[in-house]
Amino acid sequence: MSIPRSADQVQVSLGEDHQDIRDAVRRICSDFPAEYWRRADRQELYPTEFVEAMTASGYLAALIPEEYGGAGLSMRAAGVILQECHANGCYAAACHAQMYTMGTLLRHGSLDQKAKYLPAIASGELRLQAFGVTEPTTGTDTTKLKTRAVRDDDHYVVTGQKVWTSRAEHSDLMLLLVRTTPLDLVVKKTDGLSVLLVDMREARGNGMEVRPLSAMINHNTTEIFFDGLRVPAKNLIGPEGKGFRCILDGMNAERILVSHESIGDARWFIRTASLYATERIVFDRPIGQNQGVQFPIARAYAETQAADMMLRKAAALFDADLPCGEDANIAKLLASEAAWHAAEACMQTHGGFGYAREYDVERRWRETRVQQIAPISTNLVLAYIGEHVLGMPRSY
Ligand SMILES: Cc1cc2nc3c(=O)[nH]c(=O)nc-3n(C[C@H](O)[C@H](O)[C@H](O)COP(=O)(O)OP(=O)(O)OC[C@H]3O[C@@H](n4cnc5c(N)ncnc54)[C@H](O)[C@@H]3O)c2cc1C
Repeated sequence: MSIPRSADQVQVSLGEDHQDIRDAVRRICSDFPAEYWRRADRQELYPTEFVEAMTASGYLAALIPEEYGGAGLSMRAAGVILQECHANGCYAAACHAQMYTMGTLLRHGSLDQKAKYLPAIASGELRLQAFGVTEPTTGTDTTKLKTRAVRDDDHYVVTGQKVWTSRAEHSDLMLLLVRTTPLDLVVKKTDGLSVLLVDMREARGNGMEVRPLSAMINHNTTEIFFDGLRVPAKNLIGPEGKGFRCILDGMNAERILVSHESIGDARWFIRTASLYATERIVFDRPIGQNQGVQFPIARAYAETQAADMMLRKAAALFDADLPCGEDANIAKLLASEAAWHAAEACMQTHGGFGYAREYDVERRWRETRVQQIAPISTNLVLAYIGEHVLGMPRSY
């Protein structure tokens, strides 16, 4: 088929596409049963064995072009990998950033930077799965971030703080968004931000301190403090002062990928809830015979199917290199909410047993909730739709 030039030429596959990938991912997941994830959650362990298995499979390099040693797969195929992990009880969020954080390097890095890092990221020799954007005092208002990088000869000197930087303790490299020109000296507030590639192995203890953050889920997240960290100027990704644009480029990809995880979560909750509702006998009949139990599960299924269609559309537009901001944002909104409604239905269906750790419902319920907050919160998705799709005044 010829390359689509406009959205009306894009085709979306229905049903279980990428069957070979789905089968292979299911096989990997079967080696990581629920007890593995329960223990990781209980002890706040990084699921190293799972991450190593995913790395060895080559699937975390799905989006790296073949010329750099990756698999060169489509966005949809990459999404299917993450979706299958989550649908089969695993938590790919522990390593999903290895798939997409490199996108900024791929699109905006110099030829030298790409040749140096991408093959090693593709093989898994280097982990690039930390992405430092959020700060404690500025949150969603990214352009006000306070972490400063000041040029000193052939280095940048970084001072400031990040929060919620996930997987930083398990990553060799980090993409760091910093302000290189003070806000009051730029015309556009999005200018003056820059992206640095930080080698965590050199930085730790030399101007950078990483502290684990105890959180509601086992997401291996951290706070990072910078006090005079020296980053070689050659590690600047893209033009100085244009870092906001460089990271914005990757956001549609991130939204599409994490939405696949939400769809996977939703499928797990719906399957688990349906089974329990059919098997659990109370008042001498299966609880699923009651409409009050059955209908929330059926509704969550309908919402999941609708979100899945929207997500397939977003991925297809992305793969055709066509604008997909609207679709990626809508897919993110619908998928995260479908997953949450499925989680709620599953929890309620299980009654008191929903609270028993051995059923995994409470853990996965906690895990799926974050999708409405990170990497972008629902309100900000709605603000995007209101402003950029519907043309209403900017609300913030
Ligand atoms: C488990 C986890 C992992 C994370 N991993 C990373 C990571 O790896 N790297 C990273 O950089 N960040 C990460 N984050 C941070 C995440 O991206 C932010 O938490 C998120 O973007 C929201 O920012 P905030 O927490 O500062 O909320 P705030 O900006 O303080 O917002 C709080 C609430 O107010 C709402 N709100 C704020 N302003 C407006 C407005 N103008 N209109 C309407 N509503 C508004 C928001 O929608 C939100 O619900 C992670 C967070 C979590 C919880």
